[in-house]
Parts: sequence; C-alpha cells; structure tokens
Amino acid sequence: MTHAVPSLALVDRVIAGEVAAVARLISRAESRTAEAHKALARVYKLAGRAHVIGVTGVPGSGKSTLVGKLCAKLRATGTKIGIVAIDPSSPYSGGAILGDRIRMTEVGSDPGVYIRSMATRGATGGMAQAALDAVDILDVAGFGTIILETVGVGQDEVEVVRASHTTIVVSAPGLGDEVQAIKAGILEIADIHVVSKCDRSDANRTLVDLKQMLTVGVRTAPASDWVPPVIGTSAMSGQGIDELVAAIERHLRHSLESQAGEKRRLAIAQFRLRKTAENLLLDRFGEAVARVSAPLAAKLMQREADPYSLANELLQSSLLPESRHEQGTRSKIA
Ligand code: GDP
Repeated sequence: MTHAVPSLALVDRVIAGEVAAVARLISRAESRTAEAHKALARVYKLAGRAHVIGVTGVPGSGKSTLVGKLCAKLRATGTKIGIVAIDPSSPYSGGAILGDRIRMTEVGSDPGVYIRSMATRGATGGMAQAALDAVDILDVAGFGTIILETVGVGQDEVEVVRASHTTIVVSAPGLGDEVQAIKAGILEIADIHVVSKCDRSDANRTLVDLKQMLTVGVRTAPASDWVPPVIGTSAMSGQGIDELVAAIERHLRHSLESQAGEKRRLAIAQFRLRKTAENLLLDRFGEAVARVSAPLAAKLMQREADPYSLANELLQSSLLPESRHEQGTRSKIA
C-alpha cells in the first residue's frame, strides 16, 4: 500500500507532538504493512520514557469512569496523558463507544489528553502488537503517562495490560459475583487493586472479601517485595483517587529501583518480541496458504501425499524469506 505521506515522514511530525500525525501513524500500525513497520521500528528506538499503566476489570466495574478521574488528577501534574482503550466490539458496530464515553467526561476537551479506541473483534491477531505500537507512538509524541484500558477481559486484552509497567485491576460491588476478578482469572496480575463505587453500601463487603482473598494466598504472583494495595474509590465523591495516584507513583519508583521491576521490563520485551514474531508468522502463513494451498490440496484429494507432509510443506513455504517469494513469483510469471 502506498500512502500520500510516507510513514517514516510521519515519525518526525510525531516527534514534534503533532496529534494528527499520531492518529495517522496508529492507523498505519493497525494496517501492519512493511512500510509502516519501518517507521514503527524507528519509533520503538526513540520510545521508552513514558509510564504505562494498565487498567482492567470486568465490564461495568467502573474502569472508564475511574480512568477519567485518574486522568484529571494526573493532568494536574502537567504530564500529557494518552489513553489506549482496547475494545472487543466490532469496528463497525461500536468500536468508538468507549472513546466517546470518555470524551464526555471532564478530560474530553483537554488537548493534553489523547484517547484512542482500538477494536479487537475482527482484528486478525495483530491487536496486541498494534496497541503496543500505539503506546510507543504516544510516548515519542511526549505523552508522559499512557493508560492502556481494556473494555472486556478477553485473553488478548489482558495480555496487553500485562505488558504495562503498573497494572490496576478494578472490582466493583453489585455485579453478582463478589470478587469478579477471581472468576476472570485476573486477580494475580494486579499491582494495585481498586474497589470502585465505594459510595455504595455494599462496597465494604467487596473490599473485605477481596482483602481476605489476598491474605489467604489467592494471589499467585511470583514472590516480590511489592504487596499490592487494595484501594476503595468513588468516582462520585472522589474518595481514594489521591491514594490511587500515590500508589501508582510508589509502584513506579519501586519498579525503577528493584530487581522485580527489571524482570518485569524484560518480560514485557519478551512479550513484545513474541507478539511481533507471531504476527509476522501469521501474515506469512496467510500468504503461503493463498499461494500454495490449492495445488497441495489437490495432491491431498488424490491421495498422492498425506496431510502431515503437505502441512509441513505449507509451513516451510510460509517460512521462506519474503524476497524468495517474490523471486518465485517472478520466475513463474517469466
Ligand atoms: P466499565 O465498563 O468498567 O468501563 O464501567 P463504567 O465506567 O462504564 O461504569 C459502569 C457503571 O458504573 C456506570 O453506570 C457508572 O456510572 C457507574 N459507576 C462508575 N463509577 C462509579 C462510582 O464510583 N460510584 C457509583 N455509584 N457508580 C459508579
């Protein structure tokens, strides 16, 4: 695909903090073309300054409301804030709903806040990678804090949140199951627990249940000297938001100074590498299927060969370097 403005040229504009260029480069990251990859490679090397905060929890637990409050509070420190919302809804039926909801809050008209909603449904496995590219792009554009928020708790979304420096898991009273995070299997990924809606009378029960759960060892995170705090918040009264900001800062300091933080950064790099390779592989596999699966299937149908050897052949062919493909195609055409 060729663009009017080459992706590499967009990088300079991103560095200058131009929001329109940020938006365009994120869209290019979603399209995953080789042309975009060159620009993103440059972006990656320039990034690494921002603090990335992941926020997850079941739908309805109050995440976007909390992110709005948190964002307003963090903005007071002068830092620019990027919000990447990972949304499982279809890009056609409602991918922008979350962004729209946040826009309606007090931070909506603030030019120091950039919100981007990225849909997971329909994305062919490249979602995690594109979201992490978006984080780097915002980082390079000078956004000092980047919040990665999930709408749901699907595997892809939770994995992405796991790739953040500080992970907040939100639980709420009144959603049936008292500690929903356990059911969703996300309790152990929390660096900070939030029980939202503490203005409700049933919130105390959720707080007590969660704390109990943590003391009896449901928390299965590897041993570390960081003990995830449990913070009750209310978006209505503002309760707990200052405490949450303080906990986030404490966790940032802890991760910069401790070996656990170093291990975490290595784990994030490993995740990033795996996801990027996975996507390259999936793309090449898709190309190989399109190129060679018909003749291979014909052989299979005639029982000239077995499915195992043919599947191996298909895999081998998807692992050929791109240049070999082109040469092969050219020689066939000639
Ligand atoms: P999300 O799906 O996790 O992003 O949750 P939302 O932020 O959309 O909140 C779900 C519902 O809970 C909405 O109706 C919010 O108005 C409500 N809500 C969020 N935070 C609070 C709070 O602190 N107190 C009360 N009483 N309701 C809240």
